[in-house]
Amino acid sequence: MSRKHAFQFLDLPRTMPQRIPVELRTSGDWGELYGKFGKEDAQFQAGRCLDCGNPYCSWKCPVHNAIPQWLQLVQENRIHEAATLCHSTNPLPEVCGRVCPQDRLCEGSCTLEEFGAVTIGAVEKYIVDTALATGWRPDLSAVEATGRRVAVIGAGPAGLACADKLAHAGVQAVVYDRYEQIGGLLQFGIPSFKLDKAVISRRRNVLEGMGVQFRLGVEIGRDISVDQLLAEYDAVFIGTGAYRYTDGGLLGQDLKGVLPALPFLVQNSRIVGGSDAHGRPIAGWEDQIALPDLEGKRVVVLGGGDTGMDCVRSAVRLGAAKVTCAYRRDEANMPGSAREVANAREEGVRFLFNRQPLSIEAGADDEVIGVMVVETQLGEPDAQGRRNAVPIDGSESLLEADVVIIAFGFSPSTPAWLAAHGVEAGQNGRIVAGGAGRLPFQTAHPRLFAGGDAVRGADLVVTAVAEGRDAAASIVQLVTA
Ligand SMILES: Cc1cc2nc3c(=O)[nH]c(=O)nc-3n(C[C@H](O)[C@H](O)[C@H](O)COP(=O)(O)OP(=O)(O)OC[C@H]3O[C@@H](n4cnc5c(N)ncnc54)[C@H](O)[C@@H]3O)c2cc1C
Repeated sequence: MSRKHAFQFLDLPRTMPQRIPVELRTSGDWGELYGKFGKEDAQFQAGRCLDCGNPYCSWKCPVHNAIPQWLQLVQENRIHEAATLCHSTNPLPEVCGRVCPQDRLCEGSCTLEEFGAVTIGAVEKYIVDTALATGWRPDLSAVEATGRRVAVIGAGPAGLACADKLAHAGVQAVVYDRYEQIGGLLQFGIPSFKLDKAVISRRRNVLEGMGVQFRLGVEIGRDISVDQLLAEYDAVFIGTGAYRYTDGGLLGQDLKGVLPALPFLVQNSRIVGGSDAHGRPIAGWEDQIALPDLEGKRVVVLGGGDTGMDCVRSAVRLGAAKVTCAYRRDEANMPGSAREVANAREEGVRFLFNRQPLSIEAGADDEVIGVMVVETQLGEPDAQGRRNAVPIDGSESLLEADVVIIAFGFSPSTPAWLAAHGVEAGQNGRIVAGGAGRLPFQTAHPRLFAGGDAVRGADLVVTAVAEGRDAAASIVQLVTA
């Protein structure tokens, strides 16, 4: 489809693919919320791109996707070329098309934002799903094997992106993960209504087709030592994520009926995500939690990030009668994606902003009866520039609940087996990588590299992908020097 006139974007509104009707979602449908664009819809949306000389969308994207260029290829129905271009910057484009907070990244920076940004994420998903379904695969025919081998610890987005780029450089990548499935939080954290688990299995086939090997159900530091990896491989990439749970230290957090967010989501994904994990507890938690029956219950989720949004929407699908998200700042300062907040609202979730939890309260039988909260107002900005939530004296009240889910976030923790090799732990448990005198993503040990949440702290899929990708470039530089 060729562009009709310069103001075509005014005639053609922004549209998203159709969504599963809300009645189905609230009665327990775990399918991916957004459907897929057909060729016409994708071409219409791609045709809205102004191809502005200064593509802020691309600049704002952490992997700097060539967005205007692949939108042009979609208009010309050159989908395999578009897929090649998508993969040149992003080894997991179909995942990012689904889970990136586009409203804060590419689409939020689109010149057309005021009129309705180009639907970039959905077009990205269309390109890659269509290309893979019609036989497109990364072309490694011109790649020459270097004879070098690199171990990747962690099959999350950072590890997978690293393995992909190593394969493109002729380096044999062998990916280890303690779980039997690849994907990290894509598999076990992010619910299937945001990311269908079949997408991850398909990506595994693509990567294996490129020669990437997986050694799953193997925990480094327990089943195999990092010394063994250093003896067997030319270098090692560490993409172990951030799994140290922030509990907030609330009085009553150990009560029956109080659940930490990630074990709640992990247990769910095992049951409804169609995947069967290795069965080992996630590091940092001794036991798997027993998933309570939420049918007819009042659920309060504490925390306003992506994890909180996934918890509230999972609780809706598990039949909770009333789901409330309490967040200590206002809506504008909430970290969760605005799109996910809108979806949650549509599914009946109630948001209470400017409420800070003080304690979790129990009744006579030690069962949770609610969360004591205090109202807040925004005060001075903190070190990161975010305005602090300041409690308002005398505004305490009880938010009634049968189940409370704590979703305050996660931090990395540098494992002891890395410290033994001189790898430094930085602020808040982050692995220190890069810096003066080192290659980007190289740790204090010259053959150990690290990236993703383990280095940045809990962040986004696309930033983990960017770091895994760029760490691979440093590794290739070292091992082929
Ligand atoms: C509930 C939830 C929802 C989220 N939703 C979104 C979203 O919608 N959009 C978005 O962009 N981001 C989202 N995120 C964030 C995103 O998932 C992470 O930033 C991203 O997955 C980080 O990638 P990673 O590869 O660094 O780590 P991970 O995905 O955590 O992968 C690390 C892998 O390392 C493995 N591992 C750890 N230690 C070892 C060891 N010793 N031996 C072997 N294997 C090991 C783990 O098993 C895991 O598979 C969400 C996070 C959570 C928790």
